[in-house]
Amino acid sequence: MHTTDVNEGVEDAKEWLAKAFRRVRLTVISKIEQNESIYRELDASRAKVTLKEKDANPKSQAGADSRKTFTDHMVVVDWTADRGWADPEIVPHAAFTLMPTASVLHYSTVCYEGMKLYRGFDGKLRLYRPDENAARLATSAERISLPAPPPAEFKALVKKLCSIDGPKWLPQSRQGEYLYIRPCIIGTDPSMGFDIPKEARFFIVISGWETVAETAPSGLRLLTSRADEIRAWPGGSGNFKVGPNYGPTLRNLGQTKGRGYDMTLWLFGPDSRITEALCYLEKYLELVTSPVGDGLILPGITRQSVLTLASERLREGAATAYNLEPLEVVERPLTMSDLAAAHDEGRLLAGLAVGTTYFVTPVGEIDWNGKQILLDSAENKHLLAIKGWLSDIMYGKVESEWAEIVDE
Ligand SMILES: *Cc1c(COP(=O)(O)O)cnc(C)c1O
Repeated sequence: MHTTDVNEGVEDAKEWLAKAFRRVRLTVISKIEQNESIYRELDASRAKVTLKEKDANPKSQAGADSRKTFTDHMVVVDWTADRGWADPEIVPHAAFTLMPTASVLHYSTVCYEGMKLYRGFDGKLRLYRPDENAARLATSAERISLPAPPPAEFKALVKKLCSIDGPKWLPQSRQGEYLYIRPCIIGTDPSMGFDIPKEARFFIVISGWETVAETAPSGLRLLTSRADEIRAWPGGSGNFKVGPNYGPTLRNLGQTKGRGYDMTLWLFGPDSRITEALCYLEKYLELVTSPVGDGLILPGITRQSVLTLASERLREGAATAYNLEPLEVVERPLTMSDLAAAHDEGRLLAGLAVGTTYFVTPVGEIDWNGKQILLDSAENKHLLAIKGWLSDIMYGKVESEWAEIVDE
C-alpha cells in the first residue's frame, strides 16, 4: 500500500469522526433544549422585536402627552417555575389575554416600578438610576412570590424599549419633558387553588404624562388619613411596591379629593407616625424624614437622592458654595405631633413630598383632624436648590452617574 493511500484513509476516518461528533453534539443540544426541567434565566439579548406595522394615529408623532396615551410597543416576557424565562418579545402595545382565574386577578400577585424617560436639554434620552428600580423590583417580587428579572436584563429591556419608542414619542422638540415607564410583574397561573404562582408575566409599557402646572402655586394640600384606616404597618408590605398596597387606598383618595385636597397623608399608630415619603425643614436647620428600615415607608429613589444631595451639598462647609445656610439631614420617625409642635413653635419652614411621578413637590398645607398646618414651601431656597440639582441631572445639564443615556 502506498503511503498516500494510508494518509487518505486517515483523512477519511478523521472526517467521518468529526461528522459523527457534530451529529452527537447536535442531538445532545436538542435533547437539552427539549428537556423542560432545564430552567432558563432571562436573556434580554434574545429579545424578538415585532414592530407595529403602521401608525394608526399620525398625530401621535407629536409625542405622548397624556396618561391615556401609550407608545407603540411593549415588552412581554413569560415565566414558568419549571422552564424559567421565555425569550423576551417586544411587540405592538395591545391588550393581552389572561385566564379568568389568573392569580393576579384574585390574589393581587403583582408588583411594579415607576420610572421616567427624560429628553435632556442636550437632546439625549436618559433614565434616572435604573439600577435602583431593578433592585427594588426584585425585592417587591420576592415579597409577593413572583420571579424577578435579573437587574442587568431588566435594565437592558427597559433601554431597548426606550430606544425603539423614545425618538418618536419624546422627540427632540420636547426637551425638558418625559415619558412614564411602567415595568410590572403579574402572577398568571390559572390554577384555582391558593398557592404561589407557577406562571408569571413581566411586561413594560410606556405612557405619556400631561405637562400640567405641577400643583397649586402654594404647594400640595394633604389631608391625613382617618384613624380607622391604615396603609402600612410593621410586618405588612407597605415598604414594597406591590399592588395590594394601593387598591384599598383608592376609596380614601376619592374622599380626600372630594374634600378638595390633593393627596392623603397616611399615618400609623397611636402617635400618628407619617408613613409616606415626606420631608420637612426645621429652622435649626434640619431636613427631617422618617427612616425606611421599619417596614412602614417605601424606600423611594427620589427620597434617597434628596437625602444624598442634601447631605453632600448642604452640610456645614459645603452649603456656602451655593449661598445657602448649611443644614443637617436627620432620619428619625416622624409623627404628626412633632410636625404640629414644630409648626406651633414657629420652627417649621417647609415640607416636600418626593417621588418619581410628582418629583420634588412643595407641600403647602397639611390638615390633621381639623388642625391646619400651613407651610411656606414653594419659595424655600433649600428645596428649590435640591429640586434644581436633581432636574439638572435628569435632563443632562450636568454629568452624573445617576443618569444613564439611552442610545437611539
Ligand atoms: C413609588 C412610591 C414612591 C416614590 O418612590 P420613587 O422611587 O421616588 O419613585 C413613594 N411612595 C410610595 C408609596 C410609592 O409607591
